[in-house]
Amino acid sequence: MTEPGADDCSIQSCYWLEAPLGQLTSLAQSQSLAHAILLSGPAGVGKARLAMALAQFLLCKTPHGNKACGQCKSCLLRLAGNHPDLRQLRATNGTSIGVDDIRALTEFTQGTAQQAGARVILLADCEKMTEAAANALLKTLEEPPAGCYLLLLSAAPTQLKPTILSRCQQWRIAPLTEPALQAWLQQTTDKTLPDWLGAYSGGAPLRALQLVQSGQLETIIQQFSQLQAYINGELSLPELLKTLEKAENLTSIFGLLVQQQLNNGRVAGQFERQQALIQRYQQWCRDEKQILGQNKALMLSAWLVKLRQLLATAGG
Ligand SMILES: [Zn+2]
Repeated sequence: MTEPGADDCSIQSCYWLEAPLGQLTSLAQSQSLAHAILLSGPAGVGKARLAMALAQFLLCKTPHGNKACGQCKSCLLRLAGNHPDLRQLRATNGTSIGVDDIRALTEFTQGTAQQAGARVILLADCEKMTEAAANALLKTLEEPPAGCYLLLLSAAPTQLKPTILSRCQQWRIAPLTEPALQAWLQQTTDKTLPDWLGAYSGGAPLRALQLVQSGQLETIIQQFSQLQAYINGELSLPELLKTLEKAENLTSIFGLLVQQQLNNGRVAGQFERQQALIQRYQQWCRDEKQILGQNKALMLSAWLVKLRQLLATAGG
């Protein structure tokens, strides 16, 4: 079992999480909180922070309003990363969650709470459960032990089995609008940031913040400006390939360019050309997942040539 490390992230300053947290804690106070909750939304929208804030509330002996007190024995244990009634699980190396991990969780749910309160499980990346793991979890979802809460997190809930979905109460955390995300980032980082950052991060503020704080944003800015220079005929294909060949975010970079061109770029208002661009981009997204090695480099070149063609013939 691995620790997602959500504990060091509070929802302080994440104002968009306050409303769902208020609703969830109100339900808990009136003893009507569902025992299995699925929090969905794009990566970096704050699902883990919201789930941890709810877990803290559920475990706290003397919560203040909708927040854990931070001072009771239960809170102190949790702050020390040592609460016996809290379990966190996520996909190992981001790949999968196996049946043994879920069985360990099931055993945990069958015990009694050591702090005589609730027991809480945070299961991140839950769409990455193997078939056997999902089946093992199903039993717990069907008959949840009293006082036990399962908080499932997923950025791709449609990949979950319908039998899992139907047993969870679903809460979708919506991405922020572009202006709201920009305003929040500006305030949080005190930096002037590119106006496409919200679109690039799918409206997920914490994802955008992480790009800024990790320095990845500078690389993305360089990639994006080179891609634009190539489209404008100011940079050759081999030069562009040098920058993009090793990039791991190609789908996002291309998605951003396509979106920009559709909205106010060279194909704006030209329905057929827009359709052709979208279809070719979708093909890239499919191929990118399946094609590997040398063929991938060829595929990248072919797509870039086509992309420039589609945009060059459009609008003159
Ligand atoms: Zn407390």
